[in-house]
Amino acid sequence: MNENFDPRKISSDKDSEMDGIIRPQELEDFTGQEKIVTNLKIFIQAAKLRGESLDHVLFHGPPGLGKTTLAHIIANELGVNMKITSGPVLDKPGDLAGLLTSLEEGDVLFIDEIHRLSPEVEEYLYSAMEDYVIDIMIDKGPGARSVRIDLSHFTLVGATTRSGLLTAPLRARFGITCALEYYDTEFLKKIIKRSAGILKVDISDDAALEIALRSRGTPRIANSLLRRVRDFAQVLGNGSIDVKIANYALDALNIDKRGLDAIDNKILKTIITKFKGGPVGANTIATSISEDQGTLEEVYEPFLIKEGFLVRTPRGREVTELAYRHLGIDRFNFDESKLF
Ligand code: ADP
Repeated sequence: MNENFDPRKISSDKDSEMDGIIRPQELEDFTGQEKIVTNLKIFIQAAKLRGESLDHVLFHGPPGLGKTTLAHIIANELGVNMKITSGPVLDKPGDLAGLLTSLEEGDVLFIDEIHRLSPEVEEYLYSAMEDYVIDIMIDKGPGARSVRIDLSHFTLVGATTRSGLLTAPLRARFGITCALEYYDTEFLKKIIKRSAGILKVDISDDAALEIALRSRGTPRIANSLLRRVRDFAQVLGNGSIDVKIANYALDALNIDKRGLDAIDNKILKTIITKFKGGPVGANTIATSISEDQGTLEEVYEPFLIKEGFLVRTPRGREVTELAYRHLGIDRFNFDESKLF
């Protein structure tokens, strides 16, 4: 069996097709993130009452928590069309201009990974977001002149896993900013049961709980584990998922009991073996595991801290007793050579 099975990297085309079916279409179907959902309901309703476009929305948070899903839902609830693109795809201002001029009144433009926009394209976006106009250069050389084009009043929905990389001027142009958080087990369990219902698979409560516990607080992982466990249930059982088959499948796939992935475990092991459990600076940890410091701080650490494996202290990061227990390491007596 694959030792380094990473549920975040196992989606196939078939899985993405299924994603479309499982993805909630309305705020009512969206589980968790209650504050965000409540606020969005009000903002959407207010915009509709006034007959105006919704203010620009920024979603930030680790991957797989529902940013794209919420963008789709916003467009649905507003009853408008949505165009989708992403920061790295928008190479030149011309690409953005083409998209912006194709939007109709009230439409949503979704830009994923918005922190990866080039400075040139980003600057172009400012006047579009603020005044719904863009200036296009016509001709080159001495005859060059700029022409102002009016745009429809649209809503930009931006998503980023790295809010720390957003420039202040871009951030300031979003009227609504939502930070998505990791999901508690109860919410993940609900999401798994909902997805199982759509996929027409029987699943027991305790089996859904077992999958939820191992999903790293992330709906995308919960759904992908559900699909893999369903494979085991269909081939080795009668198609229904009970806790026995769930545990068997999750163990066979080498899914960590607490949902931690290979990098999470590497971070904890590194702090323990190289830095005596901490405290140690984020920069030093990042270098040791060859990760970018921002990714460590914005994508990995929040989950480890939420689950109580890691604490942030003024002197740096420290692992907790739970981390030692999870890794089965005796705090005072361990053989480093056996850990990696
Ligand atoms: P992100 O854009 O933050 O990376 P997505 O919106 O693509 O995440 O969500 C990943 C998957 O998880 C989607 O297929 C969606 O069906 C599911 N999902 C995310 N959030 C929820 C939720 N709150 N309730 C139900 N399913 C969710």
